[in-house]
Amino acid sequence: MNIQRSTAGRLEGKVALVTGSTSGIGAGIATVFAHEGARVLIHGRNAEAGARVLREIEEAGVPADRLAFHVADLLDPEACVGLVARAGEVFNGLDVLVNNAGDFTRGTIDETSIELWDRQMALNLRAPFVLTQAALPLMRARGGGAVVNIGSVNAYIGGMNLTSYSVTKGGLMTFTKNVAQQVSRDHIRVNQINVGWTLTEGEQRVRTKETGREDWLETALPTRPFGRLLSPRDIALAALYLASGESALVTGSVLDLEQGPVGGS
Ligand code: NAD
Repeated sequence: MNIQRSTAGRLEGKVALVTGSTSGIGAGIATVFAHEGARVLIHGRNAEAGARVLREIEEAGVPADRLAFHVADLLDPEACVGLVARAGEVFNGLDVLVNNAGDFTRGTIDETSIELWDRQMALNLRAPFVLTQAALPLMRARGGGAVVNIGSVNAYIGGMNLTSYSVTKGGLMTFTKNVAQQVSRDHIRVNQINVGWTLTEGEQRVRTKETGREDWLETALPTRPFGRLLSPRDIALAALYLASGESALVTGSVLDLEQGPVGGS
């Protein structure tokens, strides 16, 4: 067996778009991808947050011309199409799309309003559809590409207070597998990471509100087999594998990234 080692970054020469990358898991993925040589279009809803993430990645040694930022509200399908087009304009193409932006507002079956259901379907499920559809021609023009969908361990059954959220992530999993089989002959791979409990800005906000306690993490940690929550970097390293040539023939797969088997509620 011939094992070749390269000193180049694992995404050298690639262009990546990471949605929702001004915070949490998305920021972690954008940072790791940039350090691995990709040109990265960072996306968010807030220009100030975008400027901060760009500055942080640059200060860590990534050349400024490998980074760009675009504001878009992904509840708007036209803004999704515009975001993909922007990657094409700024970096002349697109190789990797990470559908990460998500809304994880809680709601049991009794509490979930039609407004919440529709909003989560629009952001967590329709936006990845529109973004992927818009990205495919750019990827075909490059002779291939990779889509990485950020799902959740809630995709299988989900927490009782996560009704519509869980349905969106289950739908995303079907979308991943369905599209993967349609585009494999274009050498475009579509995979999903079903993320477990991860310490992010969003999680911090939701848990503090839910428990009414700033120190919720202190009681959460002893419940975790490895004594900590997942970090955005844990997820980013899995996304790096699925985005890079190292997973060359992996498509339609779902990686459950949790501290034990998942599937129940
Ligand atoms: P986060 O709040 O830090 O990130 C969510 C991102 O989505 C933010 O950047 C936000 O700006 C963006 N976003 C929200 N609404 C948007 C809209 N209308 N238009 C454009 N962007 C919008 O939270 P996170 O924990 O990093 O979540 C990232 C992804 O990981 C989500 O898809 C979430 O469902 C998934 N996930 C997280 C966990 C966890 O424990 N943190 C677990 C499972 C899955």
